Amino acid sequence: MSLISVSKFNIGQTTPLQTELRRESARLWNDMVKLHKFIRKRRWKWPFRGDFEKHFKSKYRLHSQTNQALIKKFFANIETTSENRKAGDKKARYPYRDRKHFQVVMYKASAIKRKGNRVILSNGLGVKKLIVRIPKDIPIGKITGAELSFRELRLTIKQDIKTIKSAGSNVVAADLGVIHLAAMTDGETSEIIVGRGLRSLIQYRNKKLAEFSRLLSKCKKGSRRSRKLRVAKAKMLFRNDNQQRNFLHHASKQMIDYCVKQQAGMLVVGDCINMSKNARKKKKGSRRSNQMNSNNPLGQLLTYLKYKGKFQGVELDKIGEQYTTQTCPKCGHRHKPSGRNYQCKNPECDFIGVRDLVGSANIKNKFENGRIEKGYLLPPLVAKYRRPVKVPVIRLNCVVHLTDGMLLDNTLDAAQALSSAGGKTPSELFHVA
Ligand SMILES: [Zn+2]
Repeated sequence: MSLISVSKFNIGQTTPLQTELRRESARLWNDMVKLHKFIRKRRWKWPFRGDFEKHFKSKYRLHSQTNQALIKKFFANIETTSENRKAGDKKARYPYRDRKHFQVVMYKASAIKRKGNRVILSNGLGVKKLIVRIPKDIPIGKITGAELSFRELRLTIKQDIKTIKSAGSNVVAADLGVIHLAAMTDGETSEIIVGRGLRSLIQYRNKKLAEFSRLLSKCKKGSRRSRKLRVAKAKMLFRNDNQQRNFLHHASKQMIDYCVKQQAGMLVVGDCINMSKNARKKKKGSRRSNQMNSNNPLGQLLTYLKYKGKFQGVELDKIGEQYTTQTCPKCGHRHKPSGRNYQCKNPECDFIGVRDLVGSANIKNKFENGRIEKGYLLPPLVAKYRRPVKVPVIRLNCVVHLTDGMLLDNTLDAAQALSSAGGKTPSELFHVA
């Protein structure tokens, strides 16, 4: 079995050679776009990839495989566009921008050599080799592909694994949420990954996006001001994406680490369709909970869990999470909990527990029995909390709107309180189950 992963990292200031290569790649791209356009306009015979490969062979100061990779990318583009056009999307355009300054430089395995903490990328005869330092923690294995772009290198690494390992035979169940990104239990111990940092990133993003669209609506199209705003907006989104991704990487690593520690070869998560990034229209909630649920990058977390688990021998499974947070694990009574604790409302039952742990214990119960068997598994009473990363206090340097002549407190403390407030919000915001 082999595992393929892509590592992306910052390579710092661009060197003249990098710039030259990216320019050369753009030159090839522009020439391809021009030629394709020329042929299209005259309604000549539709060109194929082989024709282009022959035509553009060894005309550029790039490795021959790099050349081919870009041609392949171009034709993949053409294919998608024609499929979209056939499907009725007449707005789909064939590649038309023939004045690109830079283009990604792609390398195939034969042009890549790894030497210690450096990768050596060959650029064909007569052109200097590009040497890039790579971080120490890049996984060991064969580098099968590389992509050079602005200040960034992506490496595709293939790792061979002879035997499929397993962390053990236990099962860990996780209840995913917003405030507690994941509450995990194996029946005896528990660990909760705190998701507040992620939530504050999401709230910041929404706040800033609203701010930008308000400002952009006021300026003239194509003006210098609007251009500046759009650049700032893209920068903010880029940074915020990175921060979210970093958070999710740390969180998923902690989750897998917990499984390994508990010798669990299986991680079961509640399958919560209602919280995925794009499916929010079905269920109406408050504006606040909709914002929270729609932007929650849970799909991304699951992808990370899946691949990180593979490396450690932890399998990921999903199970419907209906009623898992509502059912009392002791007597089977069902009611919607409010607050962060679950207190059974059955007069003959005295069960009290941490709500999210009740959820995860019930998920484990359901996974092992097919349904929630009462009295089968009680969640642990104490929870260990972990914060994936320290999210910096977000400066709210947007305009503060004054309402009703009241002066708003915009000191740092107030901002901090704002970004950490919401722990008191009712719990049913996030759990439909
Ligand atoms: Zn009960």
